[in-house]
Amino acid sequence: MSLNIQRNDTVQVISGSGRGKQGRVLRVMPDKDRILVEHIHVIKKNVKPNPQKNIKGGIAEQEAPIHVSNVLLVCGTCGPTRVGHKFEGETKVRVCRKCGATLAPKKK
Ligand SMILES: [Zn+2]
Repeated sequence: MSLNIQRNDTVQVISGSGRGKQGRVLRVMPDKDRILVEHIHVIKKNVKPNPQKNIKGGIAEQEAPIHVSNVLLVCGTCGPTRVGHKFEGETKVRVCRKCGATLAPKKK
């Protein structure tokens, strides 16, 4: 089964630490049902200095994956929504379950 969430979608977090926040989807991991969302669930990582690679040590911030069931896709018209599907000709498109608007189709 493919995910309803795609890269560059705007999603709203509905549970967990980032609850209520919106962000852009940076990466989708379909095999794990997880996504990376910009500025959501940011974790701090200790980075060891490596002079040979010109890496300064310290603390780096990095998004950690969250499960797709913790987010809703944001419809441009009515906000966070569940996603439905319909066919436009041969193409399956995502639609907002509330207002029926077509949500950005897959770009390759
Ligand atoms: Zn809508």
